[in-house]
Amino acid sequence: MILGTAAEGPFQKNGYVLGCERTSAAVYIDPGDEVEQLLGFIAEQGLRVSHILLTHAHVDHVSGVAEAKRRLQAPIYLHQEDQSLYDNAARQGAMFGIQVEQPPPVDRYYDEQDAITFGDYQVAVHHTPGHAPGGVCLAVTKHGAAGAPALFAGDNLFAGSIGRTDLPGGDYEVLMKAVTEVLFAFPDESIVYSGHGPETTIGRERRSNPFVLEYLAARPG
Ligand SMILES: [Zn+2]
Ligand SMILES: [Zn+2]
Repeated sequence: MILGTAAEGPFQKNGYVLGCERTSAAVYIDPGDEVEQLLGFIAEQGLRVSHILLTHAHVDHVSGVAEAKRRLQAPIYLHQEDQSLYDNAARQGAMFGIQVEQPPPVDRYYDEQDAITFGDYQVAVHHTPGHAPGGVCLAVTKHGAAGAPALFAGDNLFAGSIGRTDLPGGDYEVLMKAVTEVLFAFPDESIVYSGHGPETTIGRERRSNPFVLEYLAARPG
């Protein structure tokens, strides 16, 4: 898989471009302040982006969507439960004192039954609320290839940390359930590409994430 990543601006949010090495079909996950860099990567690599996929609609994950849509003309995918956050993207930016272009309308809501494909790869969508009501984890696998998926987990799980739950729509119990029941259902060797910071693996977080260990220790039984 061809993987381009960049983080920019005050939020240092990771944007990801995933491309099929055989067909050059590609997706762009969470266009934000790094959009110019990754549009450059897409052009350099000769990729054709067929989907703009959002892990959730906090402003740092959508601040580049308007520009990405103009340049790529690809449909925008979001979980239905983040529609109101999305509608308020420019207002979210204003709360941080940042001017953000309101993104154009969402084209499609995710359907967890439907896999999204780009070339030889497919993306399965898993609803992981708690940090945002419409948060999703995007699990990417190659057709016919063995091995664990690559997980694009948004802001739910980070290397050594978890997403904040003090923003509108956040809920600690819901987040921990998504992390321990949805994300930890993946094999240990699955690489996790988070919304912020370096990549990690499910196994490493299962063994050593202090927030997860604390949650599990506090649970009866
Ligand atoms: Zn977020
Ligand atoms: Zn974020």
